[in-house]
Amino acid sequence: MTFAIHGLAVSRGIAIGRAVVVASSRMEVVHYFIRPDQVEAEIARARNARNAVIDELRRLQEEMPKDAPGELDALLDVHLMLLQDQALAEAIRNWISERLYNAEWALTTQLEIISRQFDEMDDEYLRERKADLEQVVERILRHMKGAASPISPPMAPAEGGPQLALEGASETPLVLVAQDLSPADMLQFKSKVFAGFITAVGGKTSHTAIVARSMDIPAVVGARAASQLIRQDDWLIIDGNEGVVIVDPTPMILAEYGFRQRQNELERERLARLRFTPSLTMDGQKVELLANIEQPSDGAAAVRAGAVGVGLFRSEFLFMGRSGNLPGEEEQYRAYREALNGMQGMPVTIRTLDVGADKPLDKAQPKDYYLNPALGLRAIRWSLADTAMFRTQLRAILRAAAHGQVKLLFPMLAHRSEIEQTLAQLRQAQSELDVRGVAYGQVKLGAMIEIPAAALMVRTFLRYFDFLSIGTNDLIQYTLAIDRADESVAHLYDPMHPAVLRLVAEVIAAANEAGKEISVCGEMAGDVSMTRLLLGLGLRSFSMHPAQILAVKQEILRADASKLEPWAQDVVNSDSPAELLAH
Ligand code: PEP
Ligand code: MG
Repeated sequence: MTFAIHGLAVSRGIAIGRAVVVASSRMEVVHYFIRPDQVEAEIARARNARNAVIDELRRLQEEMPKDAPGELDALLDVHLMLLQDQALAEAIRNWISERLYNAEWALTTQLEIISRQFDEMDDEYLRERKADLEQVVERILRHMKGAASPISPPMAPAEGGPQLALEGASETPLVLVAQDLSPADMLQFKSKVFAGFITAVGGKTSHTAIVARSMDIPAVVGARAASQLIRQDDWLIIDGNEGVVIVDPTPMILAEYGFRQRQNELERERLARLRFTPSLTMDGQKVELLANIEQPSDGAAAVRAGAVGVGLFRSEFLFMGRSGNLPGEEEQYRAYREALNGMQGMPVTIRTLDVGADKPLDKAQPKDYYLNPALGLRAIRWSLADTAMFRTQLRAILRAAAHGQVKLLFPMLAHRSEIEQTLAQLRQAQSELDVRGVAYGQVKLGAMIEIPAAALMVRTFLRYFDFLSIGTNDLIQYTLAIDRADESVAHLYDPMHPAVLRLVAEVIAAANEAGKEISVCGEMAGDVSMTRLLLGLGLRSFSMHPAQILAVKQEILRADASKLEPWAQDVVNSDSPAELLAH
């Protein structure tokens, strides 16, 4: 039966494929694709684990004391019966051989399918057998853990949560459906195995959504019922433009979306022609288009999209999912150098670690440890609470700066005392390198303006820093008191709220007046519906995911910046900017 699930549109485009539902059960296992030549070994691994459990249960039965309750024997019989079920074995073999799932993934996928069948049964006794099945599967999984796969996953999985390591997937386009995905999980998608993804939780500028946009694959988040309503292997259409997921589409709907998918591709091809066109407004104003990246290797996509530098390298992605084993100075230095090399001499803005809130270092760091993680130990606060780690990062960045143009950006500053502590740490990092006699380069210093307090005291920031970068994602979150990752308040997360626009306008004006560089690196910079307004407010530097650069450039080429100025002031001074913006 065809039905639609609504969520938030976070990454453009249309994806059509079969659902891969990542179970959010208590049995968290690694998920990875095997190669076709590994199928037999993987099937054998599943079979051996199952046989080992059968032997174990038989032994238990034989050794059962005479006075043990009869129910126990009967229960073991049920478990043995489930284990020996040919249909189960067959289904697991199919997931492995046809989808190239690893054995654990195949087993939990089938468990989920059977569990749903149990849930739908009228007979209470039979419904309760679901628990037995889960116990049996858990036993098999334990045996598999003991007998490690001969095929090691291509990426070390993070602890807990859906763990994905992706390589060599099958031919059918696959769409990932999960309750939640951490930004670290999302990074593992970079190999583009999935054609799209859907999560039940998350907001438009949650970091998970941001990573999806950076990969340029259609995505819908906050589709609350998705992981309950969508079944393994269902055909799905993700409409990332509208935030809709269509489950089990009819051939007519499929044809319609196939058509729209081709239209989107044509539009992309058309935009690609703008790559070498200089980014100038109609009245000749030069506008700098920079890239936001998460990993050193992302530089290639940035150059391909015509970026003239990196405006935001979210360095925290180097630190995530490493079970506390953080990268040292040397490893970071190499990563920053790689990013610089990738940008072929163009400037790279490296932002120091911004972890906490919806970017946990590890799954082990509980998200809700504090009542308001977004207001807690995040970003620069984290760095200033662990100055040894902070200076390790600063030294690595300074050393990389000996090889190219590096700009150093600090996240979430709000207090003058934080600015001074931060700069003191930088001086200390420089003298540590001096003592060691290690070469390092000069860097321009910048601050993110992403807390209303910082926007309101922008002139103080301008005294300390060479450049500013407005982080609208957090600026909106903190101005409107809306958790950017919470889909239940996503409708109130409004980039066009007059209070947000006034803060953005004032920061741009103050920086321009002081003759300092000013950029926007939040998602607002890549939103084509905001391009004209930002130009009218005097912004000449935009930093966004490479996938958005050409669409924004198209808006710039069509804009007359001088004519936009008075209109932009009217929008900012209006009580309902959205209405004016639409005209
Ligand atoms: C922002 O807050 O706008 C920003 C660019 O930083 P992040 O999204 O990484 O918090
Ligand atoms: Mg931010």
